[in-house]
Amino acid sequence: MQFAKIALKASVAALAVSLAATSVPALADAHTEAGTAEEAATTEFPLTPEGAAQFIESVEQEYRAFATPAARIEWLNATNINFDSNTLAAQYGAELSVMSVNFANEAAKYAAIEGLDPDVERKLGMLRYAISLPAPSREGAAEELSAITTSMGAQYGAGKGTLNGEPINGSDIEAEMGNLERTPEELAEMWASWHDNVGAPMRGEYEQYVTLANEGAAELGFDDLGTMWRSGYDMSPEEFAAETERMWQEVKPLYVALHTYVRRKLNEHYGDDVQAATGPIRADLLGNMWAQEWGNIYPLVAPEGAGDIGYDLTDLIQERDLDAVEMTRIGEQFFSSLGFEPLPETFWERSQFVKPADREVVCHASAWNLDNVDDLRIKMCIKPNADDFITIHHELGHNYYQRAYNGQDFLYLTGANDGFHEAIGDTIALSITPEYLVQIGMLTPDQVPDADKDIGLLLRQAMDKVAFLPFGLLIDRYRWSLFDGSVAPEDYNTAWTDIRAEYQGIVPPVERPSDAFDPGAKYHVPGNVSYTRYFLARLLQFQFYKAACDQAGWEGPLHRCSFYGSEEVGQNLNAMLELGASVPWPDALEAFTGERQMNGTAMVEYFAPLMAWLEEQNEGQEAGW
Ligand SMILES: [Zn+2]
Repeated sequence: MQFAKIALKASVAALAVSLAATSVPALADAHTEAGTAEEAATTEFPLTPEGAAQFIESVEQEYRAFATPAARIEWLNATNINFDSNTLAAQYGAELSVMSVNFANEAAKYAAIEGLDPDVERKLGMLRYAISLPAPSREGAAEELSAITTSMGAQYGAGKGTLNGEPINGSDIEAEMGNLERTPEELAEMWASWHDNVGAPMRGEYEQYVTLANEGAAELGFDDLGTMWRSGYDMSPEEFAAETERMWQEVKPLYVALHTYVRRKLNEHYGDDVQAATGPIRADLLGNMWAQEWGNIYPLVAPEGAGDIGYDLTDLIQERDLDAVEMTRIGEQFFSSLGFEPLPETFWERSQFVKPADREVVCHASAWNLDNVDDLRIKMCIKPNADDFITIHHELGHNYYQRAYNGQDFLYLTGANDGFHEAIGDTIALSITPEYLVQIGMLTPDQVPDADKDIGLLLRQAMDKVAFLPFGLLIDRYRWSLFDGSVAPEDYNTAWTDIRAEYQGIVPPVERPSDAFDPGAKYHVPGNVSYTRYFLARLLQFQFYKAACDQAGWEGPLHRCSFYGSEEVGQNLNAMLELGASVPWPDALEAFTGERQMNGTAMVEYFAPLMAWLEEQNEGQEAGW
């Protein structure tokens, strides 16, 4: 079952990043059977500040020695899936899991020592919270937790809904939810059957998972798993929760305006019986199983005239007959124009640009640094179209980040926080404006769309990027309340429906049965993948983009800016990237943007012309739900 395209790439890339750069957590999930307290019962070094420093040094040595061979195995597995590569990848993954769980348990002991060197303290923290699913150490608990997560994952993967009574698998039903030819009855059937068939059966297992994971988190010194997840942000878990809520409040008016406009369009299209003119929106009418991105229904809401921007990026690529390597060279050229060194020759020799004809591979785009120095690669199955052209820029953002911080200590070879790594590539992707396409000779100046097309350009983007925001936030907010016990198991589904109504302003198309477990029908819930990073990345990409445009001296509406060719931007960007995770993220953010807070103001500025237009359109409408 697929997740939204960008976010799926994001999570796969994060796995590659974590393997190659080894912050390890992504793999630790999959193999929780390994690693118990028995193995970590004794400490090798004295429980003193010096002992803690020696412990960290030995951890970093061990990881560094392990990481490159493990990354090469993982690369072989991803680019040639067969029995042997699967077996080896599983072995290395299990070994890495044992290491990371042992290190986390040990780190918890050293973390209690007074007078630690600040770097040692920072690295101990990273070892402790870098495991996203901590198993309890008592006999049999890790196996039980592993069995539960494996079972939930398998159920999700094999899940089916129905369409006109016929079974339909996950990726097909996801595509059909975006098919504008489907009737409201068909959409409701698909929505309800998917949630009933996939979510409800895992409800009992999910309760057990919450109990066990909380127990494991407690052993590592956290109140519960949600607290542990919120501990990776250089502030207290409470402060982090408040920060994300503050950021949401900044962009909420934009979401509400979009919601109000889209609701009216749906009401006009479907009539009052299907979608009322006021109140929440029916969740199955937004073109996506989870109503998380609405781009599929853009044709229903497109403004007359402005909807057509006059050129098509896919056509431009195909007219020029660009192949996968040539498309990637254009992406590289963007970074070179900022003053970054060209990609190494090995990148061009070793990357997987297109789908091989003769073997099974993982096509989901990802970016790698196999030796944590300069063995950079992308793994894609590039097709000559606009989506893949944008994705190339996104993936290269990961590669240039990886190379920029390659001089850092091993545990710092990652992004400033988990939102940063995804946001870098998206920042560059935002710069693929008509003006940029002129600069690189793909568009002639007379083909640049006039300002009267801006609303179409912006609305199309907002249907994905703005629509996603409340969803990006609520998935973890919901789970935090399960982990801390404020929502009791009998209320799991009601709480889900309530928070979806509160943040997204949507309602299920049909009455939910009392035994439902609708959140289980979203991959990241049974998959134990925390989600706030995607919310952060959505806002950060605009914050970075605005900083770059200001530094490049851009004058004019923000959404038309390209900072292509600005070496000053390149230097400032590099000042942030090269820090990796060596400093608290506000320091890294400041190095590039001059700001110490993540915020939504740049996104609000970017969409300001759309906001003004939406307010006109919404006049006389009841705002919100
Ligand atoms: Zn990514």
